[in-house]
Amino acid sequence: MTTRVVIVGNGMAGARLAGELHAREGDRKVTVLGAEPHRAYNRIMLSTLLAGRIGEPDVELTEAAGHGIDRRTGVPVTTVDRSAREVRTADGERIGYDHLVLATGARAVVPPLPGLDPADLPPRVVSFRTLDDCRRIIAAAHGARSALVLGGGLLGLEAARGLATRGLATTVVHHTGHLMERQLDPAASAVLAGTLTGLGVTIQLAVPATGVVADDTGVRLDLADGRSLRADLLVLSCGVRPDTALARAAGLTVRRGVVVDDRLRTDDRSISAIGDCAEHDGALTGLVAPAWAQARVLADVLSGTDPLARYRPRPVVTRLKAAGIDLAAMGDAVGGEPGEELTFADPTRGTYARLRIRDERLIGAILLGDNPAVGTVIQLFDRGHPVPADRRALLLGRALGATGAAPAASPALMPDAAIVCQCNTVTKGALVRCWRSGARTADAVVAVTRAGTGCGGCRDAVGGIVDWLSEAESVEVTR
Ligand SMILES: Cc1cc2nc3c(=O)[nH]c(=O)nc-3n(C[C@H](O)[C@H](O)[C@H](O)COP(=O)(O)OP(=O)(O)OC[C@H]3O[C@@H](n4cnc5c(N)ncnc54)[C@H](O)[C@@H]3O)c2cc1C
Repeated sequence: MTTRVVIVGNGMAGARLAGELHAREGDRKVTVLGAEPHRAYNRIMLSTLLAGRIGEPDVELTEAAGHGIDRRTGVPVTTVDRSAREVRTADGERIGYDHLVLATGARAVVPPLPGLDPADLPPRVVSFRTLDDCRRIIAAAHGARSALVLGGGLLGLEAARGLATRGLATTVVHHTGHLMERQLDPAASAVLAGTLTGLGVTIQLAVPATGVVADDTGVRLDLADGRSLRADLLVLSCGVRPDTALARAAGLTVRRGVVVDDRLRTDDRSISAIGDCAEHDGALTGLVAPAWAQARVLADVLSGTDPLARYRPRPVVTRLKAAGIDLAAMGDAVGGEPGEELTFADPTRGTYARLRIRDERLIGAILLGDNPAVGTVIQLFDRGHPVPADRRALLLGRALGATGAAPAASPALMPDAAIVCQCNTVTKGALVRCWRSGARTADAVVAVTRAGTGCGGCRDAVGGIVDWLSEAESVEVTR
């Protein structure tokens, strides 16, 4: 009998799950129901789209279609009827399922400020979560001279950098005393603020907003210290909240997200949840790498390819995608847990590095600006390998001694297990195998392995490995 899998949400997790199921054997019908009117797109590239560095076609995700996959866009699901095992859509259609997957993602938080109605934002005030949001921001930026961004977290800073790149005088307003406080310490934040200022972004810290007044001519943001800032547009970047409304209404266990076990099942065995809407082991993810890892595990379980597959969270590395700023933060870099501390700061050149070590392992790191050892640090953190005895070399990125890790810059010295693409968990070994099996260009290797199709931050590294393999082969042939 054909198994009917219904996926609610055609975002990064839902679209990937459909593709993973498509790639596995079996007789099943997969229906993907997406509320947004667009084909699936790469949400994490919206910052790059906002900055004008790519166009809309570049954010489309390649979707598996046919062969039992039915993708429907502009179809919000309004109800899950667990006893009838069917979902209902906004236009009244009922679709039965044998297994239901909730991949409903998260929504941008609209702060509870006078003048902001989450259901009906005033003109020239936009959240930053969807392609439509991004289109609205770009439209409002046309002919505008100034912009405000409320929220100095990762997305707020990416949005601010994008707007500054478009020539707008941009100001970030952040309620706490330092930027990206979840990932950075105050010293790193100060260096980052200096870099952003140099790129045309003004930073206002430790000033909560108290209200918004907006109309077709502009926006006024009132601040707790009595000042008011005016601009042509205001972008809200105040965090996200998992979209759990369907799950809650269906009576599933929801804490901050929809609670799932290691096999991504909710407390109803016929319903799973993945991506930003899911809460696994008490944690929300909010990133694409875990969402795609969950999609892989669930596809293995549902297709029977590996019924015992389990989702195991991996260490997360956060990178800022803003032209002119190199920033990677990972683990407990801010210092909640005791550990050895190594720091280097060169604020005038926009460089800062902080490594936190315990039991000879990296437990956290911040690398901002020109840090030659960034690849090595990420690999050591990711794989939990011992750090070199020569700490200074690791911190400053000088050549490491015999006891040290190999500099990541040289593909030859990278171990096969080193993860090159964090979003898709692709190792150097997988890239080499792919090249050896006939994919001879970077594009061909990307097409097969998917490395570089998430945030795109590893594209240069993938290209470097392909170049290295090509050079090694030509040397062998010439000899
Ligand atoms: C601008 C931006 C930059 C980002 N940068 C990064 C980054 O660099 N690295 C990183 O790892 N992550 C980044 N993220 C986060 C990343 O995009 C998310 O973690 C990822 O999109 C989660 O995928 P998802 O499918 O769970 O949720 P989403 O991609 O949000 O998709 C959920 C989909 O479900 C749909 N939906 C919801 N309810 C219903 C319903 N009832 N019926 C039908 N459809 C429904 C929604 O409309 C949406 O299309 C970024 C996010 C943004 C907004």
